[in-house]
Amino acid sequence: MSSPFAALDPCVHCGFCLPACPTYLATGDEADSPRGRIVLMRALERGEVRADDAALLQHLDACLGCRGCEPVCPSGVGYGRGLEAARTLLAERRGFRPLARLVLGVFARRAAWRTIFRAARWLRGLGLAQALAGPRRFGMAMLAATTPARAATPSAAAPPSRRAAEPGPGSTVALFRGCVMDELFGHVHDATRRTLEANGYTVLEAPGQGCCGALHAHAGDPGAARTLARANLAAFAGRADFIVVNSAGCGALLKDYGHLLGDDAGQRFAAQVRDVSELLAERGPRPGGALDLAVAYDAPCHLQHAQRVHEQVLAVLRAIPGLRLSLLPGFDRCCGSAGIYSLLEPAMSQAVLAQKVAGIADASPRPGIMTTGNPGCLMQIGGGLRAAGLPIQVAHPVELLDWSYRAAGYY
Ligand code: SF4
Ligand code: SF4
Repeated sequence: MSSPFAALDPCVHCGFCLPACPTYLATGDEADSPRGRIVLMRALERGEVRADDAALLQHLDACLGCRGCEPVCPSGVGYGRGLEAARTLLAERRGFRPLARLVLGVFARRAAWRTIFRAARWLRGLGLAQALAGPRRFGMAMLAATTPARAATPSAAAPPSRRAAEPGPGSTVALFRGCVMDELFGHVHDATRRTLEANGYTVLEAPGQGCCGALHAHAGDPGAARTLARANLAAFAGRADFIVVNSAGCGALLKDYGHLLGDDAGQRFAAQVRDVSELLAERGPRPGGALDLAVAYDAPCHLQHAQRVHEQVLAVLRAIPGLRLSLLPGFDRCCGSAGIYSLLEPAMSQAVLAQKVAGIADASPRPGIMTTGNPGCLMQIGGGLRAAGLPIQVAHPVELLDWSYRAAGYY
């Protein structure tokens, strides 16, 4: 059997990946670059560096796992696979840091994360998150950013009502609800359902599903990720033609269940998974009503780099007449959220976010809405914009399509 680090073998140390790495751009330190980390990971694999070596831990812990280094690599290095192997080995040898252990423990138990998110919704509902949001209370700013954006008003008189497409064969989709997405972004699930139905899909529920396991897989706990994956396999078995997901981080792992589980059942599940933009783009999607909006798309790393889904999101946004779409410089660079990274590595997370927020603040013209298809990115960018006092909303691309469909009279 080949080494789990084998995906790093093609590295020729050319350094083409360095300018694509947000942590290297933040520190300028070779050890915070993909090339430097590959050297460290190989040394760890060979036993030349101990798993408790402080410098090794510092630089590998500081990796966002964003995989922005993969598409720019001319040698096809599978950096994400190598990082996964390194983090698994480190977790086996040194265990998890207490905060990581706590957070992963919460996300492994449905009752635990539901309780925490219920409290978060309560804070949000009382307006406390919005009132307390600021640079010193960034958690509150992130929570405030989960508040549904104000829907845009149509920019033209309402046209005669349009009818949704009729569902045809091969059109049933089961909605992956997830944890954060389901608890804090229920409005995005609602928009997902409505926009898919307008395009002729029948959207079904899959009771018994739970967290996808991405946080565990990326942190180096594939065992916990497999347990969660098996529960999802059972929940979705035989339910629909496709499994639709609107969270880029979850989608990337769901599409990787074949690798994670190493069996045919995982492969079959993975083959059914589609990001919501993929399903919508397959049907056009049908055009909506006009909205007078300046929107900048920020690509979630796990959609852009891990799933290589990009044009489909643009197709969704271009189905909205009147929407002025831009891609700001660095739109495909990580925002610093990266799952539980923003909790574990707050200083680097904020340094990476600062680059993103500065790019948005400097944009001319400035967008009124930043759109991105991942809960962590919505919270991180939305929190960063609030903390910086910038009056720019965040919304998922399907929310914008949903407003446009409402304007068009689909519902
Ligand atoms: S990962 Fe790819 S781009 Fe980066 S140094 Fe290695 S071969 Fe070059
Ligand atoms: S995964 Fe992201 S942060 Fe880590 S080395 Fe690659 S580009 Fe840099």
